Amino acid sequence: MNYKIALIKGDGIGPEVVGEAVKVMDAIGEKFGHKFEYVDILMGGCAIDAVGKSYPEGTAEKCKECDAVLLGAVGGPKWGHSTDPDKRPETALLSIRKDLGLYANLRPAALQPALADACPLKNDKNIDLMIVRELTGGVYFGKKNRYQTEDRGEEASDLMAYSEKEIERIGRRGFELARLRGRKLASVDKANVLETSRLWRQVMHRLAEEYPDVQYEDVLVDNAAMQLVRDPGQFDVVVTENMFGDILSDEASMITGSIGLLPSASIGDTAPGLYEPIHGSAPDIAGQDKANPIATILSVAMMFRYSFDLPAEAKAIETAVDAVLNEGWRTADIAKPGEEVVGTLKMGGLIRERL
Ligand code: NAD
Repeated sequence: MNYKIALIKGDGIGPEVVGEAVKVMDAIGEKFGHKFEYVDILMGGCAIDAVGKSYPEGTAEKCKECDAVLLGAVGGPKWGHSTDPDKRPETALLSIRKDLGLYANLRPAALQPALADACPLKNDKNIDLMIVRELTGGVYFGKKNRYQTEDRGEEASDLMAYSEKEIERIGRRGFELARLRGRKLASVDKANVLETSRLWRQVMHRLAEEYPDVQYEDVLVDNAAMQLVRDPGQFDVVVTENMFGDILSDEASMITGSIGLLPSASIGDTAPGLYEPIHGSAPDIAGQDKANPIATILSVAMMFRYSFDLPAEAKAIETAVDAVLNEGWRTADIAKPGEEVVGTLKMGGLIRERL
């Protein structure tokens, strides 16, 4: 098969980690008989420098001509101060999600057995869960307001709204993903307090009847935050609204020890999906051959699985990464004091050799 992939290398370590991921894709292409064509797309700080805007005209259109998008990271201190939205790298991230209709953010958090030491938890080292976060609704996108009151000074409000339709489409994603994994789904809400959560729960219960093969439970968000550090092994797929997902997915990634290892996917109802490491542009180590490319390489595995339906190719990448980690190879971010470390290029090369 032929696939066309948009590459948004971005800023900082973005080009370095995407570079290694592309070489892995090419190795998979050779092994499994696929052809990958790449389209470079300028976005983020580098686009501000080149054309004066972090999200140049036509970015979404160019992405839509591709089968999937691979993003490194955007942003950095150089572009952190402007109040002009066109000159802020984050604007580009919000815009591309919106323009590509990416409403579901998938963040797996799995603890590699070889890196169990990096897990800050004492007991549970058996962690393999996926957080499915709603990405385009809720309080982050609701109407914002600021006004003066007569007796309480200035007041501000952010509206939290969810429609049945929005809840149903993300809920279905949760159930479908659970079917591809361990057939367990936890839906996180705050139904004891929030009306949006009561509607969320009502819709989820209706969907649960359609998926009798998936073991379903409701979990209140405060309890979910607690359970994630008490016993994360109990979770398989966790589906939740935007803000709860933002917070819980960062908590889940912390318990696996390194952000240099964790991939993510943002998908909608139509192609292209967007795949990216969860980390940022790491300006402190950019251009020094120090960045861990594994999160980006595993993002490619997610792309193969969720956008191209190529589970064997995805598994081949994941197995190669596991093998390299089991053999003890470490980049600086995951090495213990005194352990020998390898750079970005070497780590990428080792993974390709294991393919
Ligand atoms: P960061 O993830 O870039 O870095 C946090 C720390 O983790 C740093 O010490 C960094 O060196 C380290 N680190 C990150 N990725 C690594 C990797 N692959 N290998 C080894 N070490 C790694 O987060 P930050 O410092 O808060 O943000 C830096 C910039 O990235 C900011 O401009 C921020 O806005 C941007 N950012 C972009 C995205 C994105 O593009 N999706 C996401 C988060 C942050």
